[in-house]
Amino acid sequence: MTHVIDGNAVAQRIRDGLGEAIETLAANGTTPTLATVLMSDDPASETYVSMKQDDCEEVGIEAIDVEIDPDAPAEELFETVEELNADDDVDGILVQMPVPDHVDQRAVLRAIDPEKDVDGFHPENVGRLVAGDARYKPCTPHGIQKLLEAADVDTEGKDAVVVGRSDIVGKPMANLFIQKAPGGNATTTVCHSRTEDLAAKTRAADIVVAAAGVPEMIDGSMLSDGVVVIDVGINRVDADTEKGYELVGDVDFESAKEKASAITPVPGGVGPMTRAMLLYNTVKAAGSRADVEIEL
Ligand code: NDP
Repeated sequence: MTHVIDGNAVAQRIRDGLGEAIETLAANGTTPTLATVLMSDDPASETYVSMKQDDCEEVGIEAIDVEIDPDAPAEELFETVEELNADDDVDGILVQMPVPDHVDQRAVLRAIDPEKDVDGFHPENVGRLVAGDARYKPCTPHGIQKLLEAADVDTEGKDAVVVGRSDIVGKPMANLFIQKAPGGNATTTVCHSRTEDLAAKTRAADIVVAAAGVPEMIDGSMLSDGVVVIDVGINRVDADTEKGYELVGDVDFESAKEKASAITPVPGGVGPMTRAMLLYNTVKAAGSRADVEIEL
């Protein structure tokens, strides 16, 4: 029987687990606070930010919502980040990406105080992750580690193949897999659009993490029996539904499930974990900023 890993259930356990830490912080006069900054009128970005706000409210994290006109000068965003950096009540800052073309995205990531960078994308935090001394693990790959742990998948000594090399998913995932630490110790291959014979790589894998953003590109014929499949992709494809589209992953679920010992669905797999780990990082930030010991 293939284990379909329930990301919603694991994410709920993560959120429940934050309750005690939030109570400990409250007893010390601290309410974890996340500031989200949205400089976009893209409906998907707006939805992501409002979901993050709702998640915060559910667990008792205070959410500050800053919206900037997408046509405003870049300075407005940088000034906002500076103000949030200086605001002692703010523990975490998240600037929703992508920002408009006239704003230098890398400069935005560098502008955020690394201690408040709960996405883990500031170069200092990327460096710490690579060095095996992560302050905040980026939410999606961290969530995947938690999913694998919940599904009793030991990564040690396994052959892991990560399809995709983005800064937010593929690269940090590969970095976590190669760490000399629980959830790591995997022999890791990173594939991308220039990889030759991707199927040969995925077929040789014990664990496949698909993060390419190509609908259902990995099917059962590209996998070996017993593989663990983690599908990160969220792709809109035209469909005969009320909205006119449906969401599919990077994996063809039905044929992959025939081969897999464990697999994540889309939706309901990695997505909820990404959101839960943002809350986790925000609570962690609040604990370290207030110098209060919390169990996470
Ligand atoms: P990017 O577009 O930044 O990166 C995609 C990567 O996949 C690139 O490295 C690209 O290679 C590689 N790639 C593209 N096509 C192929 C191919 N045919 N074969 C092999 N590799 C390929 O995407 P993200 O990492 O930001 O996101 C990936 C997917 O995950 C998207 O569907 C996104 O929506 C989803 N996502 C889901 C999250 C969640 O919480 N579930 C969170 C973040 C993202 P190259 O570098 O050569 O261009």
